[in-house]
Amino acid sequence: MNNSHYRNEKAASGHMRKLKELMHKSDNRTCADCGAPDPKWASVNIGVFICLKCGDVHRSLGEDISKVLSVIVDEWSEGDIDSMIEVGGNSYANSIYEAFLPKGYTKPKSNSSHEERSKFIRSKYESQEFLKPSLRIVSTKMSFNYSNPQKSLNYRIDSNSSNKSVEMREFIGDLKVVVRRGSNLAVRDMFSSDPYVVLTLGEQKAQTTVKKSDLNPVWNEELKFSVPQSYGALKLQVYDQDVFSADDIMGEAEIDLQPMITAATTFGDPELLGNMQIGKWLKTNDNALINDSIVNIADGKVKQEVFLKLQNVESGQIELDLEWTPLDD
Ligand SMILES: [Zn+2]
Repeated sequence: MNNSHYRNEKAASGHMRKLKELMHKSDNRTCADCGAPDPKWASVNIGVFICLKCGDVHRSLGEDISKVLSVIVDEWSEGDIDSMIEVGGNSYANSIYEAFLPKGYTKPKSNSSHEERSKFIRSKYESQEFLKPSLRIVSTKMSFNYSNPQKSLNYRIDSNSSNKSVEMREFIGDLKVVVRRGSNLAVRDMFSSDPYVVLTLGEQKAQTTVKKSDLNPVWNEELKFSVPQSYGALKLQVYDQDVFSADDIMGEAEIDLQPMITAATTFGDPELLGNMQIGKWLKTNDNALINDSIVNIADGKVKQEVFLKLQNVESGQIELDLEWTPLDD
């Protein structure tokens, strides 16, 4: 045995000792998911100690979500051990993964059925239903920097086994949309329509009230969105409310948020700037703009007026005001 090999062995056993120490902490003496005593398994990327039965469910989620190792028989890389130590064990992991566990929710017990256990574990780690909403991880390849989740955007860890890339659903700012008015909207009932506007940003959806029999409705209603790091277009749809059948669509349009957000990011804190134009979303043949839409700083706020011609419909226009508030980092 040469010296360097000997040193590696020694380092590895030191690491293994740290893992055993972590395992013997009181919160790690019961399964993170069902509370069964003396868990001998662990999910390395999630950072929890779990029992054999919960381990089986974890394994069925796939290694991208949960990489299961036995503390007793498996061989652990230093990266695996570091990843467990970084999390700090069951109580810390659960304080994140179960932060928003509904009041009165019953976690599975050590003798719970496979179905009950499986349902809970999937909700907890796969769909992350109990995580603080702003921390939800959109990538299926998960693992994040527990010590500072705010800073773990696109955080990458290189472990010996694989590269895991992480994309956090962090929000970069708030978008306020005032739906001002519609004009010349399409007729969907006998002589008129009962229009309302639906706005969609990713999974977030908001809608205005319904205006009865009005082809030129005035809403002046404010709808709010949290804009994630990787945002797409804001989608607008106008519907005619129909009491007896599904609501009919009365046109749609997409709003490109990038010109406003990019301009705002470039110019910095709007409160320090006087009123000025900072950007422009240009009308083209393949967008819904009626005219170029200017991004302005007005009274310390980033604002944009948008006039849209509804698409995939015979007629109709919608007028919106956007306001962008970046989140401090
Ligand atoms: Zn368990």
